[in-house]
Amino acid sequence: MKRQIKAVYPGSFDPITNGHIYIAERAAALFDELVVSVLLNPQKQATFSIEDRRAMAREALSHLPNVKVNSFTGLLVDFLRREHSRIIIRGLRALSDFEYEFQLALMNRQLAPDIETLFIVTDAKYSYLSSRAVKEIFHFGGPVQDMVPPGVYRRLRERFARRSITS
Ligand code: ADP
Repeated sequence: MKRQIKAVYPGSFDPITNGHIYIAERAAALFDELVVSVLLNPQKQATFSIEDRRAMAREALSHLPNVKVNSFTGLLVDFLRREHSRIIIRGLRALSDFEYEFQLALMNRQLAPDIETLFIVTDAKYSYLSSRAVKEIFHFGGPVQDMVPPGVYRRLRERFARRSITS
């Protein structure tokens, strides 16, 4: 029987952007299965709930049959063991990502030497794109329709409309 190779693409996905989708599509083309996993970090205040982040990612990646979306908390390497995967996928934008990503990859290697971090370079048109930029641009009334999938755009409108009423 052919060995199935499964990779995990972890991140905050707060919310998922076209840049994340690009990385997931390229990784899905390389591996038998890709798990896009949304990190629940109690230390970090996210804009969207874990359920919303998962739902947005699931919707945005529904065209990829070998991609599954779930979430995790705790150590990434422990999550990989539970998923029976040894491959972490991360996306690389510009030089600015490199230092942080390199440190993270070395830390994970220290914790689990048999797990490999693989980087996929973004497309030039997404090199400026981040979840934070999308939220900031949206907040100040700028156009973000070309940066995120339609379901994310809809939830951004709902989320920030609610916020302006409650705060
Ligand atoms: P984290 O909070 O873990 O950095 P993010 O959701 O911001 O999570 O990103 C998850 C991964 O996707 C990271 O490796 C990040 O560098 C990558 N990524 C984010 N935006 C883009 C983009 N526009 N193009 C390519 N990779 C990206």
